[in-house]
Amino acid sequence: MTARVIDGTAVARRVREDVARGVEKLLAAGGTPPGLATVLIGDDPASEVYVRNKRRLSVEAGMLDQHRHLPGDVDQETAAALLDELAADPAVSGILLQLPTPKHLDSDALIARIPAEKDVDGLTTLNAGLLMQGRPGLRPCTPAGVMTLLDEYDVPLQGVEAVVVGRSPLVGKPMAQLLLGRHATVTTCHSRTRDVAEVCRRADVLVVAAGIPGLIGADAVKPGATVIDVGIHRGENGLRGDVLYDEVAEVAGLITPVPGGVGPMTIAMLLANTLTAATVQQGHQQGHQQGQG
Ligand code: NAP
Repeated sequence: MTARVIDGTAVARRVREDVARGVEKLLAAGGTPPGLATVLIGDDPASEVYVRNKRRLSVEAGMLDQHRHLPGDVDQETAAALLDELAADPAVSGILLQLPTPKHLDSDALIARIPAEKDVDGLTTLNAGLLMQGRPGLRPCTPAGVMTLLDEYDVPLQGVEAVVVGRSPLVGKPMAQLLLGRHATVTTCHSRTRDVAEVCRRADVLVVAAGIPGLIGADAVKPGATVIDVGIHRGENGLRGDVLYDEVAEVAGLITPVPGGVGPMTIAMLLANTLTAATVQQGHQQGHQQGQG
């Protein structure tokens, strides 16, 4: 069997177009444009590229660019004060602190300054708790993007075996919660899991977010399974993921490529979250709130 390839670039474009239409509707209803404040601390080249793309695509969707850049040697108090200022600014609908922050800063303490209703990365304790309880809230962008891909390709979730490799607060844990919210039977693997391949072979839906290039090979995949590769690694031959694409594509039923799979969805979901945040803050009917799941 050769797997069908999930086109994350096309789905992400559709989500962004949908968000742009949502922004137009908000304005037509008397609202103001959503404002996205990306906060970049320091000059990490990869982070600069990510932030530049987020800013460009937010403007393309009709949003206001409220970007802030702090020097890499900024102290905790100054960074916290900037987040407090953005939290209080009514023109700022969403705040995204680009991670990782420089090592001398306490990024958890900085994230805690972001009000839950402006937490478009879905990383605050309140939004994580709402997800845990299956209540509406802003969801972390990458796992939310995976859910959108699964839905776009009509992947059944109710009652199926889902395995998530990775348990980070950014990807693995919220991913497992979102799948659980859709009634999958969810297992999480991590670095101490005894036999990752054996657990993965159970999966009808396998989501890999371990940050280890080529961790998952064909021996870890059930024939016909849906395989979602969240990993991104920059090598000499371009980008690759956590999944050995060529051999797994021979076994899986549906698979995401790297690049062009999950990656483009992350920014698209950030824009969707920013529109949701603006809509809720401005008291308009919410069209994009991600509810149960
Ligand atoms: P992370 O914080 O480093 O977490 C990695 C997780 O994988 C940890 O829970 C770790 O287990 C687990 N793990 C490590 N080695 C393992 C192994 N051999 N077997 C099973 N599990 C193992 O990384 P992350 O932030 O979640 O990101 C994961 C990957 O996704 C990275 O490649 C990152 O670049 C990529 N990513 C992509 C996007 C996107 O937009 N596509 C967004 C975010 C992240 P322990 O908890 O036991 O240490």
